[in-house]
Amino acid sequence: MAAIKFERVSKVYGKIPAVKDADFEIRDKEFMVLVGPSGCGKSTLLRMIAGLEEISSGSLFIDDKLVNGLPPKDRDIAIVFQNYALYPHMTAFDNLAFGLKIRGLSKKEIKIKVDEAARILEIESLLDRKPKAMSGGQRQRVAIGRAIVRNPKVFLFDEPLSNLDAKLRGQMRIEIARLHQKLRTTIVYVTHDQVEAMTLGDRIAVMNKGEILQIDTPNNLYAHPKNLFVAGFIGMPPMNFVEGRIGKDQEGLYFQDHSKTLLARTPKRPELEPYLDRELTMGIRPEHIHPYPAKGVVHYAAFQAHIQFVERLGHESFAFSTLQDQQIVARLTPEETVEPLSEMALYFEIEKMHFFDKGTGEAVTGD
Ligand code: ADP
Repeated sequence: MAAIKFERVSKVYGKIPAVKDADFEIRDKEFMVLVGPSGCGKSTLLRMIAGLEEISSGSLFIDDKLVNGLPPKDRDIAIVFQNYALYPHMTAFDNLAFGLKIRGLSKKEIKIKVDEAARILEIESLLDRKPKAMSGGQRQRVAIGRAIVRNPKVFLFDEPLSNLDAKLRGQMRIEIARLHQKLRTTIVYVTHDQVEAMTLGDRIAVMNKGEILQIDTPNNLYAHPKNLFVAGFIGMPPMNFVEGRIGKDQEGLYFQDHSKTLLARTPKRPELEPYLDRELTMGIRPEHIHPYPAKGVVHYAAFQAHIQFVERLGHESFAFSTLQDQQIVARLTPEETVEPLSEMALYFEIEKMHFFDKGTGEAVTGD
């Protein structure tokens, strides 16, 4: 059992606030990802769990026990770093065994644990090698193995895949997901990569400037971002944004962009009523824009687009155009063909539009 609870936890370095008022819980056995741009406070939050960073204010609980003053070695937590932190003069076996030796385990017990970790990570054949004779991915496996042999209550990962090339990162991502399925231990995982966050997390905490902006499952974050930052951060290519105003005529409410190129009738969105005659930012994901009306979808807003270029990836392509000086990206299926440098209508699904308050950046929702 290992649940982790933050109660109004803040961290200040000198005068710089690194984490502001973190107030949330990581559930037992959960895979929680902390994601956000560089410098947003992810590592600081992680290091506070490990006990490597003092907490400036607030309370941190592990399994209902207040741990603010508890030294790292008494927390039963293992951390895997980006730079592996292996001992260069030791073989993989000795790197894995080192912590166990210090804790006074017998040779036999150590061998059993090391072999078990090596089997889980499929590094049995590397145990005699020193780090310099291993690839980056192999070293990172050994670093993870060193965490596994300790059988901790919580695993912490601090950008563990950042030093690996794209292909290896993809493989290791799958291995880490499998590891969580096997071990069923609480994992807290820091990354700036939203793809890693989306594929690994049971839940994801999106951070910016020291604050946690939204904690949710990957699907909910994608479908219901609470604010502009989360909407723009999660999803690749990112959500399209168009500035405009809410108006009303005899047919009801509508959203119109400032250049009056796009008119979206939104009578089914009564939550927009308070924004009448006010500015809003509309957001729409690339897959909700089509070169012709999609089957089964009734409500569209169309605009005449000049297609600047098309990126073809085989299973899908991306068409780029401009609306009111904003780049608009449409994600197209292989059947939805468009020609670069052509003029054509693009159809936005009105039901899939998100609206955000321009002042606060908060999503305007019906609930
Ligand atoms: P992230 O992991 O999201 O990149 P960090 O948690 O490392 O962000 O850093 C959050 C903020 O705290 C940044 O502004 C960073 O410069 C600052 N910071 C981190 N560690 C220290 C430190 N030891 N001393 C002073 N400032 C720090």
